[in-house]
Amino acid sequence: MPEPLMTSIRMYGCLHTIRKERGLSSVAEVSIPEQGRTGRDLARELDLPLEKIEGVFIDHRVYGLDRLIPPGADVAFVPTGVPGPHRYMLGIYAAGRTAGGSDREHEAAAPSCRKASLDLNRLTCIDLNQPLLEGFRRFISSWLYRGEKFTLLVDPGPLSTIPHLVKEMRRLGVERLDHILLTHIHIDHAGGTGALLREFPEARVICHPEGVRHLVAPAKLWEGSRKVLGKLLTDVYGEILPVPADKIWFKDIIGETGVRAFLTPGHAQHHLCFLLEDLLFAGEVAGVRSEVPEGIYIRPATPPRFELEVALDSLDRMIALAPRTMVFAHHGLADDAVDHLQIARRQLLLWVQGVAETASVDESKREEALFRWLLERDEIYRNIHQLPPDIHARERIFLGNTLRGMSEYVESLPAEERRALSDG
Ligand SMILES: [Zn+2]
Repeated sequence: MPEPLMTSIRMYGCLHTIRKERGLSSVAEVSIPEQGRTGRDLARELDLPLEKIEGVFIDHRVYGLDRLIPPGADVAFVPTGVPGPHRYMLGIYAAGRTAGGSDREHEAAAPSCRKASLDLNRLTCIDLNQPLLEGFRRFISSWLYRGEKFTLLVDPGPLSTIPHLVKEMRRLGVERLDHILLTHIHIDHAGGTGALLREFPEARVICHPEGVRHLVAPAKLWEGSRKVLGKLLTDVYGEILPVPADKIWFKDIIGETGVRAFLTPGHAQHHLCFLLEDLLFAGEVAGVRSEVPEGIYIRPATPPRFELEVALDSLDRMIALAPRTMVFAHHGLADDAVDHLQIARRQLLLWVQGVAETASVDESKREEALFRWLLERDEIYRNIHQLPPDIHARERIFLGNTLRGMSEYVESLPAEERRALSDG
């Protein structure tokens, strides 16, 4: 008789707590014979209260407890009333909410645990995939909100995908666009603004006060993008057409929409977040997020010039707004905004510590050393291993950019502060 295979079972939320109270880890090893075992059977073996289990996650899909689990499967128990990000990520995200460019394969019908006050059916994520760049899919995106009295779009993306964006908007029946909101003027967010205005000349653009002049006369912005991102990337993104000065300004409350704009420096000095009722258009204030089958993947996005205190202050102010839902520029919708913002806050602190601790490693090996340091300590970043290979590769490349900003920041600190950081 072959030995039954050991299979790891993960437990989330209150199930995790129950395990912790018993002094056990949130992952259990169980044996599953070739013919499989049901989730119910395994839950009994692990002495988990059945009434607290909503379903079982088997190889990236949610099933009822009577589903047979094959040996070696990827298994997790999902507790009842899973909040926010886990619910969304695990694919038990409520049916009927269409935002987030969600992957059909990961969707399963389950009752929503709560109802947002803003009608999220009015919100659409338009993916701006860059097929010429490997791994640049489910990455750059635009958020369209079609209110009863107005339509707005956050971050039109680069010139290369304006035709696609316009086609999608037309397909969705957008005839008039009132506002284009820019979270920041980086080319992958705002490069296509001038081109989009040609299609929707009635639209007004809202941008950070410091960013306005760069979009009106984009030569310097283009040069800067070339320097930071290189020729290949900027050639694919396409040029930055100027935005007419009379179409662009900054306002902290945007007309009839009630949208509030907040200065949130960190990822960029000229970064904005926008709040529409309880929905936060977060841009890159909380870094970059990617869907993974289980849990969450987020990493900080901190190119130079990064200042920890400034970035933390921006996050704290967004946390204080207590938004319910947030949408990332890269990428997707998070159902529990404050949890995500808190994760981003913890990551900034942890990563800066990691940069300080690995600062003495030879420069050619520093990034690899930090990568390993992070895999050991950052349970959110560790999920990079769940990303498809092309997206994984993209994320590994951008890690360098994140580290450059953090390294410069750590180097700028007085010696004793640096030492205090690396001592934890
Ligand atoms: Zn970006």
